[in-house]
Amino acid sequence: ATPTAVMVGTGVGASQGILIKGGHALESAHKVNCIVFDKTGTLTVGKPVVVSTKIFYKMLPQEFYELVAATEVNSEHPLAKAIVEYAKKIREDEENSTWPEAQNFASLTGQGVKAVVRNKEITVGNKSLMLDINIAIPEEAEVALAQTEALAQTGILIAVDNEIAGIIAISDPLKPGAREVISILKSMGVRSIMVTGDNWGTANSIAKETEIETVIAEAKPQHKAENIKDLQASGYTVAMVGDGINDSPALVAADVGMAIGAGTDIAIEAADIVLMKSNLEDVITAIDLSRKTFSRIR
Ligand code: ADP
Ligand code: MG
Repeated sequence: ATPTAVMVGTGVGASQGILIKGGHALESAHKVNCIVFDKTGTLTVGKPVVVSTKIFYKMLPQEFYELVAATEVNSEHPLAKAIVEYAKKIREDEENSTWPEAQNFASLTGQGVKAVVRNKEITVGNKSLMLDINIAIPEEAEVALAQTEALAQTGILIAVDNEIAGIIAISDPLKPGAREVISILKSMGVRSIMVTGDNWGTANSIAKETEIETVIAEAKPQHKAENIKDLQASGYTVAMVGDGINDSPALVAADVGMAIGAGTDIAIEAADIVLMKSNLEDVITAIDLSRKTFSRIR
């Protein structure tokens, strides 16, 4: 392609809300034959909502949610925001806008959070977090977890003083058109893979809904990048589509990193292409544009 063609291609992209950071990014996109999609906030809407709660302790929901929200209010994670939103809705004193004080707050990326609230040690997160810190998961919690996963929801466990006290089920629906995008990519000869920090059960349920055949779950940020490198080593030209801080190593590792415009600044900086409208369809538009610019017979 001539420099003029590249300029035209980049300009057409910009006019459609696809920000292509230079000619190299536009060129790499036409060779892409494998796309790795992050789940939360990329394939899904990214605005999770609490759909149900099971409390195993003798504790009122308001009391339970006070402890959980006091911990999660310190986290930027979309799941944390969903929990705090829900806690606000069910609190008795709606006028009161503060939570109990949280001490020793710690965030464990890709796993959850913990803090000390009202002299109680509160741990909020996934099974891997609980197992890492030797918190036993009782049968009733295992059953509840399996139920949420089968429904494509995410089950968040809550431990009070190192004992499982309850589980919160959170739903984050698929973006409209996600399934169609995967099917169109397939017809274009592009393989789709889903990678997520979420658990295997939920990940498999979401993959089924989108008809993505390959899933990598319970992946920490570095793990996401390693998967990209493995795919490259087996001969694929790989694009990564993601929105989170946890996706940025993978966005950098990919041949083409595509960030969702509504995502975090760190992901947007790490990417080669930014989908300003946050539409998944624009992944196809970007590849089409690159193919038209670089595969044209001169
Ligand atoms: P994804 O790759 O789907 O964007 P993350 O890597 O951000 O997911 O998180 C992976 C998992 O870690 C979440 O599905 C959740 O189980 C747990 N987790 C992370 N942060 C939190 C938090 N603040 N509160 C509760 N659970 C969390
Ligand atoms: Mg994400």
